[in-house]
Amino acid sequence: MKQTDVCIVGAGPGGIATALKLSELGISCVLLEKDSFPRDKICGDAISGKTTTLLNRLDPQIQERFKKIQTTYTKIWGIRFVAPNLKNVDIPFFTEYNPQNDPAPGYVCRRTDFDNFLAEEAKRSRKVDFLENYDVQEINPLPKGGYEVKSGGDLPVIHTRLLIVANGAQSKFSRKQAGIQKDLKHYAGGVRAYYQNVSGWHPHQFIEIHYIQDVLPGYLWIFPLPNGHANVGLGMRSDKIAANKLNLRKILDEVMHTHPIFKERFAKAERIGPVRGFGLPLGSKTYPISGQDFMLVGDAAHLVDPMSGEGIGNAIYSGFIAAEQARDCLLANDFSAQFMRNYDIRIKRVLGDEMKVSYNLQRFLTKPFVPNFLANLILKKPQIIQVLSRMYTDLELRRKVVLPGFWLKVLLNRYDFNADDTKKQA
Ligand SMILES: Cc1cc2nc3c(=O)[nH]c(=O)nc-3n(C[C@H](O)[C@H](O)[C@H](O)COP(=O)(O)OP(=O)(O)OC[C@H]3O[C@@H](n4cnc5c(N)ncnc54)[C@H](O)[C@@H]3O)c2cc1C
Repeated sequence: MKQTDVCIVGAGPGGIATALKLSELGISCVLLEKDSFPRDKICGDAISGKTTTLLNRLDPQIQERFKKIQTTYTKIWGIRFVAPNLKNVDIPFFTEYNPQNDPAPGYVCRRTDFDNFLAEEAKRSRKVDFLENYDVQEINPLPKGGYEVKSGGDLPVIHTRLLIVANGAQSKFSRKQAGIQKDLKHYAGGVRAYYQNVSGWHPHQFIEIHYIQDVLPGYLWIFPLPNGHANVGLGMRSDKIAANKLNLRKILDEVMHTHPIFKERFAKAERIGPVRGFGLPLGSKTYPISGQDFMLVGDAAHLVDPMSGEGIGNAIYSGFIAAEQARDCLLANDFSAQFMRNYDIRIKRVLGDEMKVSYNLQRFLTKPFVPNFLANLILKKPQIIQVLSRMYTDLELRRKVVLPGFWLKVLLNRYDFNADDTKKQA
């Protein structure tokens, strides 16, 4: 039996970020993971600037160590959006393109490699008691507070004062004990496969988001990996999948063979391994994510961005906040549901606005005429690309961009690009 103050279930980005932040705060924890690293996770493998910024905030040396696995990742300098009318809009990230620079604004790195890198970071810390191959089977409240966590066999039973649940989209604890019910309007399904020999990339290897009539609200992605490999997949809101009885694997396969762009670009491509699918619990609906003696982190807390499908950054962010809340609980010796609510409040404060804007953007792009209209307009007024390239890091601007008034002003030549520049310089 092991006794601990904090036990984390799940060693994805959320669980590991929690463990690393606890270490920094001088707090020991037990970290349990059902698999052993390296292990795969179904994902688009896009690592955003949010993720690198947060890891850098924790310890700038992490970025230095990340460079040591640079053969496993592609640096990303922008996004190519392709509208249903097949028009391309290339939006570079605000940082100027320089392939030598590291950190880059974003990366594509197979989760097998990225999560293994994070797991190695956790293994560096003497404060983290990291048990791999520990498949949590039972979590029971203890009569005097805290939880008992069990796997079975010879594995130790864990008694913990505080439980942090970071075991991803299929978390049983999240559904059965924390009471989060899946709402298909706020959930998405995604499938992905790896390919080699894909042609027709942007010269700076931008990641690609393709809006296709059959996959709205949602999109198809092609993300470049080293050695001419690509992560290709599509994701869509689950209520639409259910209502139209869609089979995402079949749609992906059909698109590859029939879509005018993909037919050509994938003519010589080969799929490596199967098409695999998994859920994305979207953050467009707010749920209670803590209670007496526990907190939920990352996908277990439904924190995936409802527009982009990005969840790694938010899993890490929530892990940091959970670690700080754990410190506060230990200091105050208060693990009550009421005190734990501070965690929900902080998550709402840092992610709530962003989720709202992303949800509006997701709904804004539901009908095919919207991306078509926007692509046509942007291509006619290239000045707007400058504005949009700041959108990734500027929430205020994203908020503005979802308002029809913004596009009307651009359309009528009433949008003052210079005023925007002045604000940017100020
Ligand atoms: C198709 C698809 C594409 C996506 N693309 C992107 C993308 O490009 N960029 C991005 O940022 N996000 C993307 N996401 C979302 C992203 O994958 C998740 O948001 C992110 O992995 C959440 O991290 P997490 O730590 O909360 O959960 P996870 O990464 O799921 O980690 C949970 C961990 O818990 C472990 N676990 C589960 N059950 C148990 C148990 N019983 N006992 C012990 N351990 C357990 C698992 O093995 C795993 O290691 C995508 C998701 C999907 C499905």
